Amino acid sequence: MKHSEIALVINLSGGKDSQYMLEVLCDLYPDVEKHVVYADTGFEHVNPVSAEEWARQHAAKHGLVLHAVRNPNKTYLEMVETRGMFPGAGTRQCTSDLKRGPIQTWTRQAVRSGLITKKIIVNCIGIRAAESPQRAKQKPLKRDRVMSKNGRIVWNWMPIFKATLTDVLHGLWRRGVALHPVYIPAYHMDGTKGGYLRRLACRVCIFSTDADIRAIYEHDRAAFDAVSELEQRIDFTMKNGKSLVQIMAATPTDTKQYGSEELIDQPDQPCM
Ligand code: SF4
Repeated sequence: MKHSEIALVINLSGGKDSQYMLEVLCDLYPDVEKHVVYADTGFEHVNPVSAEEWARQHAAKHGLVLHAVRNPNKTYLEMVETRGMFPGAGTRQCTSDLKRGPIQTWTRQAVRSGLITKKIIVNCIGIRAAESPQRAKQKPLKRDRVMSKNGRIVWNWMPIFKATLTDVLHGLWRRGVALHPVYIPAYHMDGTKGGYLRRLACRVCIFSTDADIRAIYEHDRAAFDAVSELEQRIDFTMKNGKSLVQIMAATPTDTKQYGSEELIDQPDQPCM
């Protein structure tokens, strides 16, 4: 494929992996047409700066405009309430309905409107093999047969598939790219403190660990309460049979699972 024939659609969440991916792509392909898209699930971090704004500022450093997309019919919490259940880790309806779907819709519209000018579109996703054994089995480059229509050819590509967490953090640190403040202190090179999570995801995510849930309870009580009250209303728990309140009761308060240096090489969990 000639670079002049390609447009990159870069999925930027404002999280470390997609930030690193954007850096790598801008380094490797300075002259390739790029579009940066942010998918808002309606339950994104907003403090002390929104994930969307963080992503927008990062894109702007490369002279790129951030296109924010969302499902017009539902937010994450509305989806859970309507279905009466949380998404499963295997099917991840949240990801398909609130992230992948809106990005695909945006891509089709961008082709129709002429914003995307190339026939070959490479949809870039910041997934890494090291995140989970399931992810490691994925093909990092795959033709999207559903999206490849009407003369356009769409590929799904994971440009940082082989990167480790250390590669990501050191890659960002070397380039002086700051991470969103919600990340644990050990992830920041610039001394940012006050963060409590290893992933920038929905404020409470189906992949949140018990330690994450305790940290969310302590640092983002509104999000904890929103999900906890939802569990009670729909009589369905986000984690296997254990409510957030039960997880809190069972998780020791002196856990040192966040904010610790030893977390740097632990595996992460993906969303897209
Ligand atoms: S961040 Fe978690 S809860 Fe939100 S869409 Fe992704 S997998 Fe679902």
